[in-house]
Formats: sequence, structure tokens, C-alpha cells
Amino acid sequence: MKVMKTLKRCSIFILCLLSLLRWELTVQSDLGNNDTDVLVVGVPADRCPVFYLDPETKETTGIGVDLMRVAAEEAGYSVSFKIISEKTNKDALDNPEYDIIMPFGSAIKSSSGKESIVTENLIQTPFTMVTKGNKNLPAINESHIGMLSSLAGGAETVKQLYPGIGITLYDTMQECVKALRAGEVDALMHNSYVWSYVLQKPSYSDLKVQPATMFSMDFRAGALNTPEKRVIVDRLNTGIDKLSDTRKQAIVLDYTSRRLYQNDFWDYIFEYRFILVPGTIFFVLFVIGIVHRQRAIHRQQEEKIRELKERDPLTGVLNLEGFTKRVEELLLTHPENQYLLSFSNIKNFKFINESMGRETGDELLRFWAQKSTATFSDEEAMGRITGDRFAVLRKFTDAEQMGIDEKEVFEPLRNYFTDRGKEIQLQICTGVYAITPEDHKNIDVDRMLDYARMAEKKVRETLKTGYEFYNPEQWEKGKQIVDISGHLPAALQGGEIQVWYQPQVDYTSGIISGAEALCRWKHAKLGWISPGVFIPTLEETGMIFDLDSFVWDKVCQDLHRWNMEGKRHSVSVNLSRSDIREDRNIPGIFYELTKKYDLDPDQLRIEITETAYVENPGFLIKNTSELREYGFQVEMDDFGSGYSSLHMLKEVPVDRIKMDLHFLTGSGDMEKSRIIITQVIKMIDLLGMKLIAEGVETKAQADFLEEIGCKEMQGYYFYKPMPVDDFEKAWDKV
Ligand code: C2E
Ligand code: MG
Ligand code: MG
Repeated sequence: MKVMKTLKRCSIFILCLLSLLRWELTVQSDLGNNDTDVLVVGVPADRCPVFYLDPETKETTGIGVDLMRVAAEEAGYSVSFKIISEKTNKDALDNPEYDIIMPFGSAIKSSSGKESIVTENLIQTPFTMVTKGNKNLPAINESHIGMLSSLAGGAETVKQLYPGIGITLYDTMQECVKALRAGEVDALMHNSYVWSYVLQKPSYSDLKVQPATMFSMDFRAGALNTPEKRVIVDRLNTGIDKLSDTRKQAIVLDYTSRRLYQNDFWDYIFEYRFILVPGTIFFVLFVIGIVHRQRAIHRQQEEKIRELKERDPLTGVLNLEGFTKRVEELLLTHPENQYLLSFSNIKNFKFINESMGRETGDELLRFWAQKSTATFSDEEAMGRITGDRFAVLRKFTDAEQMGIDEKEVFEPLRNYFTDRGKEIQLQICTGVYAITPEDHKNIDVDRMLDYARMAEKKVRETLKTGYEFYNPEQWEKGKQIVDISGHLPAALQGGEIQVWYQPQVDYTSGIISGAEALCRWKHAKLGWISPGVFIPTLEETGMIFDLDSFVWDKVCQDLHRWNMEGKRHSVSVNLSRSDIREDRNIPGIFYELTKKYDLDPDQLRIEITETAYVENPGFLIKNTSELREYGFQVEMDDFGSGYSSLHMLKEVPVDRIKMDLHFLTGSGDMEKSRIIITQVIKMIDLLGMKLIAEGVETKAQADFLEEIGCKEMQGYYFYKPMPVDDFEKAWDKV
């Protein structure tokens, strides 16, 4: 009984002891597990193959994940990995959502400055540097390297290991590589496992691993230094201790032996660039070629349709519609051309058709068209208006052209049948309309054709055959334009144009005070032609500037020569009203001439005709003022011959008035003219302007002018315009 009691007491004691032990174990386990065995590990995801998101399962995976998983499981945890949302692990330390964070090389302070603790080393990770090409790196302690900013913790460890190193952090690997390529850093540093992945990218093939710079860093998990975290770290350490090297190496090998990198779109583009670039160029050129071809085909079709609509099927020349259109086009695009529009008709065509058959008549028409167009340029056109009526738009470049056309086209045509042994002479009537500058502006082909037709009718009715002009005076004018404007360049080159001088005198002393330069043209075909003829023509065709520039240059050459000989003169040159245009800096041109020939500006007096000021006052006054600012003398030419007004005398800033004596010699009451001139001279004097009278032909005129206060004179009474040699002699004599 006593034994039984003792046994019962012993068993109660053992039970109590067991209960106590169980309670103790439960408390211990509660402390370590934080109520649960799940461990939340914060990891980055931008470091394949160490930490990354599996593209298929969308789960966090990698060497680091697997190492931690096995270590934690050895320690009795079930792990869950959470991708850290903070920029760096240092920031993540302060986030209570993670039980522990990885990776860390060593314990560092959190971003808020709290101390941290780290686990035992999970594995030694190799770190290495990558350079652009095989660049020689300075010693690691002196180099400047780039790292990912998410590796800020690692960067701190590196800095502890190599205090001399310079580190710049970049947000992405692309930025790291850009900085390396731009030479901002000597090398990039990262985990070798990560490099083995990153460098698979085709466009990084220029980056080279530097094996000599390899060093290893610890790979640990870390957390803030708190009692709870210390328990976790201690428990994890038991798991880490249990991991054999072989197991760790197997994990590493598993990830590093796989090709984890998958080419993205741009990688493919980069990889196949040598095919893609020429391929794309070829494709683009191909498309351009096709588009061009399509357009060409379209144009050809349009051209064909136009041909059908606008061509005469019998002769191949244009029909009335086509001819009208072409004439409009040509007159619009070639305003510079002198054109004749002719209308021709075979008087006895009806007889030919009836006696020799239609086929022969058709042959004749084809012959005519072919003979005419054979001599044409692109700027000419021929049209068959109806039956045997043809119209031609012909450009004429010289006056002999009518004769040439007569010989080459009309003569063979007239003799068409006689040349073929038949006794018929063709009778051709032609009416010609010489196209005027006005026609180029208001193009009305119907009207022009009517004029030519009217002239043709006149030939048909009055004469038997031949041609007649509707407007012969325009034809004469046209010929003159061709002879003058068309020939000007050759005349300037060939020395046909000379500069003559007409001396100006001081009547009281008889001294030559200056001269006016006047151009003279001995035309190769027309002989001497008067400026009164060629100046207006050149003004009309816009070529006067070419002539004037030539004259000004020649005058400046003469002035320079005289200066060199110690004879300083002043010469007046004429400036045409059409020389002064917005796009021509006339004052600048004269200034350049004085520089070129080393002249004083007051040696040039620039004559601008009075009428020019009336036509375009604002712009002319501006130019005159600028010329005077440069120091040139400006003269108002032909004063009194046109529209002189008191207003103009007030507004126009000239130095000298050149009074035209026509006023004195013209019709009307001479006495009144004298009174007016006397008063005008007084007024000019009072206005502070100088005065010269031109066209002085008699002693009486000169005496009168002197008497009323005008001393400077120019005119036949003193000298006529003369060649430069004679002028120099005349000057020397005085
Ligand atoms: P203009 O500028 O009024 O020149 C004076 C004109 O009067 C000159 O005619 C001259 O020979 C003429 N003349 C001079 N004294 C007398 C005289 O006592 N009696 C008569 N009846 N006439 C006299 P020219 O040389 O035939 O020149 C005519 C016009 O042609 C000039 O009139 C001028 O406006 C212009 N001209 C001449 N050469 C040039 C030039 O190189 N460029 C420009 N733009 N125009 C020029
Ligand atoms: Mg003049
Ligand atoms: Mg004059």
C-alpha cells in the first residue's frame, strides 16, 4: 500500500514536471514564431538570376530566394517572399511589413538611422566590374564606378572595403550602361551572377567583364536590431548553419546554367540590324519605286487622254482646244518672249481635194504639219483649227526669222505638187498678229486668233497669196526689242557701247566745271542708234540696269584714271527710274564703286529724272536721302519738262536742279516763260539748292540765264557729247 502511494506521488510529480516542460516549450516557441511560423522576407526583383519574378508563374524566385527558402525551412519557417517597394534595402529596413530583408553584405544603418543586425552569411557572392571594351581599369581603390541605386546597401559595404573608391548610383541598368559608355564612370559593379544574366543582352556585347577585379561579398539577410528580430535572426542562423556547401552550389548552378535572359523586341532589332536596316531601306525604296511608277503610269494615262482630247489625229499637231491651252501656258510662263501668232489657209485646197482625192489632201496637210514643227522649240506650238487652217505660235529671236520660215516651210509647201511633177502651185494666205506685252498680261487666245484670221482674210480678198500683219507697228516694235534687248549682252561684251561725255561749263569764267556721261551705241546691224530709242526699250524689257551698271563702272574707271593723273573731276551719271527697285540697293552699289576705284563720293553726281519722283515719290525720296548720306550729289534731271510742282521742290531732298531749256524754247508766250524761269531760279536759290541749265543752244539763251542768276550750263552752244579722248583734250585746253 505504501509502495502504491509512493508510486502515485511519483507519477503526479512526473506529470507536473512534464506539464511544466510543455509550458516552457510553448512559451519559447511563441516568442520565436511571433504567433506563426510564416516568415515574410523582403527582396528586390530587379536582379535576375539572384532575385527576379518568374515570367511564367509570376512568383519571386532566384538564387537568393532558394537559398533563403531552404535555410528558413531548415529553421522551421514557412517563407513568403515580398518584393520590396522601397527604392533601396536601406529604406526597406524601416518598413515593419517585412520580417527580414535581403540581401546585405554587412549590417548597416537604416534610412531612419536605426542600427541593424544581419544573419550568418548564406553564401559568398562574387562581385566583379564590367567596362566598355577591354579598357584598363585604375586600381579599384582609385576608380570611379557606377552601381544600381537599389544596391545602396552593397555600395556602402564596398565603400567600407575600399574607402578610396568613387561610387555613383543610377536607377536602372540602362542608365548605368549609358553612363559607362559616356565615360562618366570607369566601370560598373554588380554581382557576377547578375552580370551573367545582364550581359546576355545583345546590345551589351561591347561590355566586358574584368575578371581581375573580382572580390567576394557576404550575402546575408538583415533586420532592425530589435529583440523580436534578434530571435528571428538567431533562428535563421540555425537553418543557415545546416546548409552544406554542395547544396548551395547546386542552387547557384541551377540558375547560372540556364539561359534566363529573353530577348525583347529591341534586342531582336539590334541582333538582326544588319539584315533589318538594309531590308528596311530596300523596302522603303521599293515602296517609293512603286508609288513613282504608279504616278508615272497615271501621268501617262492622263497624257494619253489629253492627247486624245487635244490632238488632231490626222496631222498629230494640236487641235483648237489643245492649241488654245498651250498658247495660254506659253504666254503665261514666258513673258520675256516675243511671239507671233499666225493663221494660215490654203486658198485652193477645195480644188485639190476634189481633183486629186481626199487622201492626197490629207498627205499635204501632214506634210505641212511636219515641215513646220520640225523647226520648233519647246516654247512654240502649232494647231490645226479646222480643215486646211493652221495656227502657229512662233517665237522670234531675230528679224530674219520670217525669211527663214518662208524658205524652209512655205516654199516647199507651195511647191509640194510641182516638186512631185504636177502643175499645181499652192496658194497660201497667212495673217499674223504680233503679240504685245499687254497680251501676256490679259491672255485671250480667241481674240488673238481673230486678229490673225482678219489679217488672213485681207490677204485672201485683196492679194492672191502671202502674208499680212494685223498690227505691223507692233511687229516693228517687236523687232526693235529683239534687236536692242536681245543684242545688249553681246553689245556690252563686244565694245559696241561707249560712254561719251558732255562738258558742263561755268559761263562767267568759261571753265569746264563737270560733265554728263551719256552712252552711245554703234549697233553691229543697225549702226548708230539714239539713246532716245534704246533707253525706253531697255526700260520696258527690264534690261536698263545692265547698261547703267556698265556706264557707272566705266565712268568710275575714268575718274580713277584722272585722279591718278592729278586731274580731279566730277561727273554726272544717269539713273533710270526702273533701276530703283526694292531688291536693289542702289546707294550701296554706288558706295561699293567708290571703294573699288578709290573715289570721293562727291565726284559722282547722280541724275534722277523729275518724272521718276512723280511716279514713286516715297521710295525715291528714301533712296535719294541715302545717296546723300553717303556723300553723293543728287540732281533732279529734266526739271521743267514734265510735272514740276512746288510741292515736289519742298519734299525731294536733292543738291542740284537740272533745268531743261525746252521750257524756254517750246511753244507759248515766251515772255511769260521768261518770267516764270526768272522766278523759279530765284526760288531754287532761296531754297539753298544749286542749279544748272541743260540744252543751252544759243548765246542769247546763255546770256539770259547768266543775267537771271544761272551760271552753270550744258548744251550744244558749248560742247556736244564727245568720246572720252576728245573730252580729255577739251578739258586740257581750258
Ligand atoms: P538727259 O539725261 O536729259 O541727257 C541730256 C540729253 O540732251 C542728251 O541726249 C544730250 O545729248 C542732249 N543734249 C545736250 N545738249 C543739248 C542741246 O543743246 N540741245 C539738244 N537738243 N539736246 C542736247 P542723249 O544723249 O540723246 O540722251 C537722251 C537721254 O537718254 C538722256 O537725257 C538720258 O535720259 C538718257 N540716257 C543717256 N545715256 C544714258 C545712260 O547711260 N543711262 C540712262 N539711264 N539713261 C541715259
Ligand atoms: Mg541726264
Ligand atoms: Mg536731262
